[in-house]
Amino acid sequence: MASRTPLMAGNWKMNLNHQEAVVLVQKLAWTLEDKKHDHEQVEVVVVPPFTDLRSVQTLVDGDRLKIKYGAQDVSVHESGAYTGEISSGMLAKLGCSYVVVGHSERREYHAETDAVVNAKAHQALGAGMVPIVCVGEGLEVRKAGEHVPHTLAQVDGSLAGFTAEQVAGLVVAYEPVWAIGTGEVATPDDAQEVCAAIRDRVREVHGDAAADGLRVLYGGSVKAANVAGIMEKPDVDGALVGGASLQAEEFAGICRFR
Ligand code: PEP
Repeated sequence: MASRTPLMAGNWKMNLNHQEAVVLVQKLAWTLEDKKHDHEQVEVVVVPPFTDLRSVQTLVDGDRLKIKYGAQDVSVHESGAYTGEISSGMLAKLGCSYVVVGHSERREYHAETDAVVNAKAHQALGAGMVPIVCVGEGLEVRKAGEHVPHTLAQVDGSLAGFTAEQVAGLVVAYEPVWAIGTGEVATPDDAQEVCAAIRDRVREVHGDAAADGLRVLYGGSVKAANVAGIMEKPDVDGALVGGASLQAEEFAGICRFR
Protein backbone atom coordinates (compact mmCIF):
# COMPACT_ATOMS: atom_id res chain seq x y z
CA MET A 1 0.00 0.00 0.00
CA ALA A 2 1.32 3.43 -0.91
CA SER A 3 1.99 5.86 1.92
CA ARG A 4 -0.10 8.97 1.57
CA THR A 5 0.78 12.31 3.17
CA PRO A 6 -2.02 13.32 5.54
CA LEU A 7 -3.77 16.55 4.60
CA MET A 8 -5.57 18.90 6.99
CA ALA A 9 -7.62 21.53 5.17
CA GLY A 10 -9.43 24.34 6.97
CA ASN A 11 -12.51 25.61 5.13
CA TRP A 12 -13.25 29.05 6.56
CA LYS A 13 -16.49 29.39 4.59
CA MET A 14 -17.83 33.00 4.54
CA ASN A 15 -15.85 34.11 7.59
CA LEU A 16 -12.98 36.56 8.19
CA ASN A 17 -12.05 39.63 6.15
CA HIS A 18 -8.59 39.97 4.61
CA GLN A 19 -7.09 41.55 7.73
CA GLU A 20 -8.48 38.87 10.01
CA ALA A 21 -7.23 36.27 7.53
CA VAL A 22 -3.67 37.52 7.84
CA VAL A 23 -3.88 37.45 11.64
CA LEU A 24 -5.18 33.87 11.64
CA VAL A 25 -2.59 32.55 9.17
CA GLN A 26 0.22 34.26 11.09
CA LYS A 27 -0.99 32.80 14.36
CA LEU A 28 -1.38 29.35 12.82
CA ALA A 29 2.14 29.51 11.38
CA TRP A 30 3.63 30.57 14.73
CA THR A 31 1.73 27.89 16.63
CA LEU A 32 2.87 25.18 14.22
CA GLU A 33 6.44 26.45 14.25
CA ASP A 34 6.41 26.49 18.03
CA LYS A 35 5.38 22.84 18.01
CA LYS A 36 8.04 22.08 15.39
CA HIS A 37 5.46 20.92 12.90
CA ASP A 38 6.91 19.05 9.94
CA HIS A 39 4.93 20.11 6.88
CA GLU A 40 6.36 17.21 4.89
CA GLN A 41 4.67 14.82 7.32
CA VAL A 42 1.28 16.53 7.50
CA GLU A 43 0.21 19.06 4.85
CA VAL A 44 -1.60 22.09 6.24
CA VAL A 45 -3.99 24.01 3.97
CA VAL A 46 -6.23 27.00 4.65
CA VAL A 47 -9.23 27.70 2.42
CA PRO A 48 -10.28 31.35 2.91
CA PRO A 49 -12.93 33.34 1.04
CA PHE A 50 -11.85 34.61 -2.40
CA THR A 51 -11.41 38.16 -1.09
CA ASP A 52 -8.70 37.04 1.35
CA LEU A 53 -6.57 35.09 -1.09
CA ARG A 54 -4.31 37.92 -2.25
CA SER A 55 -3.49 38.88 1.33
CA VAL A 56 -2.82 35.26 2.29
CA GLN A 57 -0.59 34.89 -0.78
CA THR A 58 1.44 37.98 0.17
CA LEU A 59 1.92 36.69 3.72
CA VAL A 60 2.79 33.12 2.70
CA ASP A 61 5.24 34.27 0.01
CA GLY A 62 6.73 37.08 2.10
CA ASP A 63 7.36 34.93 5.17
CA ARG A 64 8.09 31.76 3.15
CA LEU A 65 5.43 29.89 5.11
CA LYS A 66 4.89 26.23 4.39
CA ILE A 67 1.16 26.54 4.90
CA LYS A 68 -0.64 26.08 1.60
CA TYR A 69 -3.91 27.68 0.61
CA GLY A 70 -6.82 27.11 -1.69
CA ALA A 71 -10.21 28.40 -2.77
CA GLN A 72 -13.72 27.34 -1.79
CA ASP A 73 -15.11 27.16 -5.32
CA VAL A 74 -14.27 27.79 -8.97
CA SER A 75 -16.22 28.57 -12.12
CA VAL A 76 -16.92 25.89 -14.72
CA HIS A 77 -15.97 28.54 -17.32
CA GLU A 78 -12.51 29.67 -18.28
CA SER A 79 -13.34 33.35 -18.84
CA GLY A 80 -16.00 35.62 -20.27
CA ALA A 81 -19.36 37.11 -19.42
CA TYR A 82 -20.04 35.27 -16.16
CA THR A 83 -20.62 38.01 -13.62
CA GLY A 84 -19.50 37.11 -10.12
CA GLU A 85 -17.59 34.00 -11.17
CA ILE A 86 -13.91 33.30 -10.47
CA SER A 87 -11.90 31.24 -12.94
CA SER A 88 -9.35 28.53 -12.26
CA GLY A 89 -6.71 30.63 -14.03
CA MET A 90 -7.31 33.50 -11.61
CA LEU A 91 -6.95 31.18 -8.62
CA ALA A 92 -3.81 29.55 -9.97
CA LYS A 93 -2.30 33.01 -10.55
CA LEU A 94 -2.91 33.76 -6.85
CA GLY A 95 -0.87 30.70 -5.91
CA CYS A 96 -3.74 28.44 -4.82
CA SER A 97 -2.73 24.80 -4.51
CA TYR A 98 -6.23 23.42 -3.90
CA VAL A 99 -9.85 24.13 -4.78
CA VAL A 100 -12.79 22.73 -2.84
CA VAL A 101 -15.53 21.63 -5.23
CA GLY A 102 -18.97 20.26 -4.52
CA HIS A 103 -19.15 21.21 -0.85
CA SER A 104 -22.56 20.18 0.46
CA GLU A 105 -23.45 23.86 0.99
CA ARG A 106 -22.82 24.50 -2.73
CA ARG A 107 -24.75 21.38 -3.68
CA GLU A 108 -27.67 22.40 -1.45
CA TYR A 109 -27.88 26.21 -1.79
CA HIS A 110 -26.66 26.48 -5.38
CA ALA A 111 -28.12 23.24 -6.73
CA GLU A 112 -24.74 21.96 -7.89
CA THR A 113 -25.05 18.56 -9.53
CA ASP A 114 -22.33 15.95 -9.91
CA ALA A 115 -21.91 17.12 -13.52
CA VAL A 116 -21.21 20.68 -12.33
CA VAL A 117 -18.86 19.43 -9.62
CA ASN A 118 -17.08 17.30 -12.21
CA ALA A 119 -16.67 20.28 -14.56
CA LYS A 120 -15.24 22.36 -11.69
CA ALA A 121 -12.82 19.59 -10.72
CA HIS A 122 -11.59 19.45 -14.32
CA GLN A 123 -11.16 23.23 -14.37
CA ALA A 124 -9.10 23.12 -11.16
CA LEU A 125 -6.84 20.31 -12.30
CA GLY A 126 -6.48 21.83 -15.74
CA ALA A 127 -5.04 24.97 -14.14
CA GLY A 128 -2.59 22.96 -12.02
CA MET A 129 -4.51 22.93 -8.73
CA VAL A 130 -5.77 19.88 -6.85
CA PRO A 131 -9.54 19.67 -6.46
CA ILE A 132 -10.85 18.58 -3.08
CA VAL A 133 -14.03 16.87 -4.27
CA CYS A 134 -16.71 16.78 -1.56
CA VAL A 135 -19.25 13.97 -1.33
CA GLY A 136 -21.53 12.68 1.39
CA GLU A 137 -25.08 11.88 2.36
CA GLY A 138 -27.82 13.74 4.19
CA LEU A 139 -29.58 12.47 7.29
CA GLU A 140 -32.52 10.86 5.48
CA VAL A 141 -30.19 8.84 3.26
CA ARG A 142 -28.14 7.78 6.29
CA LYS A 143 -31.29 6.72 8.17
CA ALA A 144 -32.36 4.65 5.16
CA GLY A 145 -28.98 2.89 5.19
CA GLU A 146 -28.23 4.13 1.67
CA HIS A 147 -25.16 6.21 2.55
CA VAL A 148 -22.60 4.05 0.74
CA PRO A 149 -24.36 3.73 -2.66
CA HIS A 150 -25.42 7.39 -2.47
CA THR A 151 -21.85 8.56 -1.85
CA LEU A 152 -20.36 6.24 -4.47
CA ALA A 153 -22.78 7.59 -7.08
CA GLN A 154 -21.49 11.08 -6.26
CA VAL A 155 -17.91 9.83 -6.56
CA ASP A 156 -18.63 8.26 -9.96
CA GLY A 157 -20.26 11.43 -11.27
CA SER A 158 -17.76 13.86 -9.80
CA LEU A 159 -14.67 11.98 -10.97
CA ALA A 160 -15.92 11.20 -14.49
CA GLY A 161 -13.41 11.69 -17.28
CA PHE A 162 -10.25 11.71 -15.15
CA THR A 163 -7.47 9.28 -16.05
CA ALA A 164 -6.15 6.81 -13.48
CA GLU A 165 -2.98 8.87 -13.25
CA GLN A 166 -4.97 12.03 -12.50
CA VAL A 167 -7.17 10.29 -9.92
CA ALA A 168 -4.03 9.22 -8.03
CA GLY A 169 -3.32 12.89 -7.33
CA LEU A 170 -6.85 13.98 -6.39
CA VAL A 171 -8.45 14.49 -2.99
CA VAL A 172 -11.97 13.34 -2.11
CA ALA A 173 -13.59 14.57 1.11
CA TYR A 174 -16.29 12.39 2.60
CA GLU A 175 -18.54 14.74 4.55
CA PRO A 176 -21.80 13.33 5.89
CA VAL A 177 -24.07 16.38 5.76
CA TRP A 178 -25.64 15.53 9.13
CA ALA A 179 -22.23 15.93 10.77
CA ILE A 180 -21.32 19.33 9.28
CA GLY A 181 -21.45 22.20 11.75
CA THR A 182 -23.75 20.20 14.02
CA GLY A 183 -21.26 18.93 16.59
CA GLU A 184 -22.49 15.48 15.53
CA VAL A 185 -19.28 13.75 14.51
CA ALA A 186 -19.41 10.41 12.71
CA THR A 187 -17.63 7.65 14.61
CA PRO A 188 -14.21 6.62 13.34
CA ASP A 189 -15.84 3.40 12.11
CA ASP A 190 -18.53 5.37 10.23
CA ALA A 191 -15.79 7.42 8.55
CA GLN A 192 -13.72 4.35 7.73
CA GLU A 193 -16.70 2.49 6.25
CA VAL A 194 -17.38 5.14 3.61
CA CYS A 195 -13.77 6.24 3.02
CA ALA A 196 -12.85 2.57 2.37
CA ALA A 197 -15.82 2.16 0.04
CA ILE A 198 -14.67 5.23 -1.93
CA ARG A 199 -11.16 3.81 -2.27
CA ASP A 200 -12.52 0.39 -3.28
CA ARG A 201 -14.65 1.99 -5.98
CA VAL A 202 -11.65 3.89 -7.32
CA ARG A 203 -9.63 0.66 -7.28
CA GLU A 204 -12.37 -1.08 -9.24
CA VAL A 205 -12.61 1.67 -11.87
CA HIS A 206 -9.03 3.01 -12.09
CA GLY A 207 -6.77 0.34 -10.60
CA ASP A 208 -4.35 0.04 -7.71
CA ALA A 209 -2.10 3.04 -8.32
CA ALA A 210 -5.07 5.43 -8.43
CA ALA A 211 -6.67 3.93 -5.32
CA ASP A 212 -3.43 3.91 -3.36
CA GLY A 213 -2.56 7.47 -4.35
CA LEU A 214 -5.99 9.09 -3.87
CA ARG A 215 -6.31 10.90 -0.54
CA VAL A 216 -9.68 10.54 1.14
CA LEU A 217 -10.48 13.05 3.87
CA TYR A 218 -13.22 12.94 6.47
CA GLY A 219 -15.14 16.11 7.29
CA GLY A 220 -17.82 16.88 9.85
CA SER A 221 -17.31 18.48 13.28
CA VAL A 222 -13.65 17.46 13.46
CA LYS A 223 -11.86 18.94 16.47
CA ALA A 224 -8.48 18.53 18.15
CA ALA A 225 -10.20 16.32 20.73
CA ASN A 226 -11.67 13.80 18.26
CA VAL A 227 -9.25 13.83 15.33
CA ALA A 228 -6.85 11.14 16.58
CA GLY A 229 -9.43 8.33 16.55
CA ILE A 230 -10.53 9.26 13.02
CA MET A 231 -6.94 9.46 11.75
CA GLU A 232 -6.18 5.99 13.08
CA LYS A 233 -8.41 4.52 10.41
CA PRO A 234 -6.47 3.16 7.44
CA ASP A 235 -8.54 4.78 4.69
CA VAL A 236 -8.79 8.24 6.25
CA ASP A 237 -5.96 10.46 5.00
CA GLY A 238 -6.87 13.71 6.67
CA ALA A 239 -9.72 16.06 7.46
CA LEU A 240 -11.69 18.87 5.91
CA VAL A 241 -12.41 21.12 8.86
CA GLY A 242 -14.96 23.93 9.08
CA GLY A 243 -15.63 25.71 12.38
CA ALA A 244 -12.53 24.46 14.19
CA SER A 245 -10.25 25.89 11.50
CA LEU A 246 -11.18 29.44 12.51
CA GLN A 247 -9.11 29.15 15.69
CA ALA A 248 -5.37 28.87 15.23
CA GLU A 249 -4.66 26.77 18.34
CA GLU A 250 -7.52 24.40 17.66
CA PHE A 251 -6.64 23.91 14.00
CA ALA A 252 -2.96 23.48 14.88
CA GLY A 253 -4.06 20.80 17.35
CA ILE A 254 -5.88 19.02 14.53
CA CYS A 255 -2.80 19.24 12.30
CA ARG A 256 -0.75 17.77 15.18
CA PHE A 257 -3.06 14.79 15.55
CA ARG A 258 -0.32 12.26 16.19
C1 PEP B 1 -17.19 21.65 6.42
O1 PEP B 1 -17.87 22.63 6.24
O2 PEP B 1 -16.59 21.14 5.47
C2 PEP B 1 -17.12 21.09 7.76
C3 PEP B 1 -16.64 19.89 7.90
O3 PEP B 1 -17.59 21.87 8.80
P1 PEP B 1 -17.48 21.57 10.38
O4 PEP B 1 -16.08 21.07 10.64
O5 PEP B 1 -17.76 22.86 11.04
O6 PEP B 1 -18.48 20.50 10.67
